[in-house]
Amino acid sequence: MEMMWMTKDEIRNESVAGTPVIIPFGTVEQHGGHLPVATDTLQAYGVAMRSAARTKVVVAPPVHYGQCSSTRNHPGTITISGDTLRSLVDDLIESFVHQGFKRIILFSGHAGRIHMSALRESAERAVRKDPSIRLAVACDLDLVRETAQELLRTPGDGHAGEIETSRMLYLHPDSVSEVPQEEYPAIPPYRVLPDPEKYWPGGVWGNPGAADEEKGKELIERSADALAKIVESLLE
Ligand SMILES: [Zn+2]
Repeated sequence: MEMMWMTKDEIRNESVAGTPVIIPFGTVEQHGGHLPVATDTLQAYGVAMRSAARTKVVVAPPVHYGQCSSTRNHPGTITISGDTLRSLVDDLIESFVHQGFKRIILFSGHAGRIHMSALRESAERAVRKDPSIRLAVACDLDLVRETAQELLRTPGDGHAGEIETSRMLYLHPDSVSEVPQEEYPAIPPYRVLPDPEKYWPGGVWGNPGAADEEKGKELIERSADALAKIVESLLE
């Protein structure tokens, strides 16, 4: 069920029935010269909506902004801080719980460390405060690696590469432009830099040339299966 189109009474019926909620999280972040900045949001939302075709779940409107680190100086990235994200997630969990939803999945299309730790910290805070809440935090990229590793040709593919380009070719083919060269960031290990983009000019991490739509379909559908299982695990 797509929450943005539901009425107050329909939403009330689902909260009374104990239906879980997925809150999809994305970013506004550069994804190379060939993918739109909403790529993370569109994947998270696409996977969440497909999981809703497999199991009973309400899919909340997505959170479009997230925390981005190494791409923050590239054109197109609009980031929020980990602190802001934590506050936002605290408020969202509190409001969903206030409305009667006590089974919540925070599902992220972005895998950044600070971003994911903000989601996890808010979730931990919420279950400490109210142990009757059932919460899960999942990252879309982890679901891909867990369910579809054997389909991937590019070791270490991560950002705007084989995985994300394939998935966008399946979900939103008209949004994909001519794919750039394979690229990997050369950011010196352990360093925290003011200008990471100097070591990562194209903003691609992996090989978009290895992408195809058929693989994208499989990567989306397998993640949707895995997400549906996470939803069901909150009902046990
Ligand atoms: Zn991405």
